[in-house]
Parts: sequence; C-alpha cells; structure tokens
Amino acid sequence: MINKILDLFFPPTCGLCGKIGKHWICGTCYRKIKPFIKLKRVQVKKNLFVNYMFLYGGDLRDLLLSFKFNENSYLFRLFVEIICRDKKVSEIIKKSDFIIPVPMYKDTKKRRGYNQTELICEGISKRKDILYDNSILIQIKNNKTQSLLNRFERNQNIKNVYDIKNIDRIKNRNIILFDDICTTGATINECYKILNRYAKEVTVLVLAKSNYKKG
Ligand SMILES: [Zn+2]
Repeated sequence: MINKILDLFFPPTCGLCGKIGKHWICGTCYRKIKPFIKLKRVQVKKNLFVNYMFLYGGDLRDLLLSFKFNENSYLFRLFVEIICRDKKVSEIIKKSDFIIPVPMYKDTKKRRGYNQTELICEGISKRKDILYDNSILIQIKNNKTQSLLNRFERNQNIKNVYDIKNIDRIKNRNIILFDDICTTGATINECYKILNRYAKEVTVLVLAKSNYKKG
C-alpha cells in the first residue's frame, strides 16, 4: 500500500543513474550492465546447484552493497526489473509454484528495516505468476555474519539456524529458493536441505556468485 502511494509521488527512477523514466533501470544503464548478466548454473556443494545471474564485482557489486546496507531499499525494484526481463530466469519462474527467500533473523530485519531478498521475491511475485511466502522458511537463531568467517566456521555457524512452518503449502510443489549473494553456499545449502525434504523440486536462484577468498 505504502509503495503504491510512493509510486504516485515518486515515479520510476533508474537505480543506477537516477534518471526518471518508465522503469527502475533506464535503457542506457540496462545496456551497460546487460553484457554482465547471464544466467549460469554451478555446483557449489554435493547435490547443490546454484543458478546465478552475474558474478559479484564491478558496478553490480556496488549496487548490491548499496542495496543491502545503505537503507536503499527502493533498489529492490531495479533488481526485480533485471530478473523479470531475463528470459532464462522467466522460464524457471514459469515452471515454479513458489518463490521463497533466504530468511533473515527478526532482530536483524528490524535493525536494518528490511530483508532485501524478501523485497525482491515479493516484487517478482507481483510481476510474475508465482506465489511468494516468507512464513514458510524462517530463521530461528541469530548467528554470526557469515562473511566474517572461514569456510569451516560458516558451515558450523549455519547449523540449526533455520526452521520450516506450514509444510503443507509446499508439499509436492516446485520451489525457487532465492538469495542475493552466494559465496561458499553454506547458507543456501541449509535452506535447500530443509525445503527439499518436502518440496517436489527446489531450484536455487541467486543474483550474484561471489568467489570465496581466504581472509
Ligand atoms: Zn540509468
């Protein structure tokens, strides 16, 4: 509701250059980033394949960081636009029933004001024929930020952090599990394992694949 009111006062603005137009990314900026967007499928763990739209770097990295941490929640519309315009992603959406975001712990969401992956999933659901539900997969334990940990610690840190509710809703359904960034795949793997117990099929879709570097 609030978004609809805001749209009246603030017409679509390109998330990259700020130009007012019809879409949340202007033609010039879209042509600039389009060569970097290509859906690819990669195996990140045993039994876990991830579809990603671009590699985490350059302008798109800055954009994603700004979206996640700088209270620029409005940028979700730009990502929804990029996702919905992609033919291969649209095919995945078409054969799926549900889009489910990787959840965020309630206190973290409160502090940040929004969960960026939820906003994107909700936006996709409004544009495409797919259900969105953020009450099925939930984060029940607050864990340390994954990006500060090494590969082993990440796998430990993510154990027993998630839970599932309203199982009946996803039984025998095709589900898209969505996240913004995938690094080692530890977080997505946990969520995937839980959903995969009940769903017919789980397809993992992320915006960016980041290469894990030992810090
Ligand atoms: Zn632009």
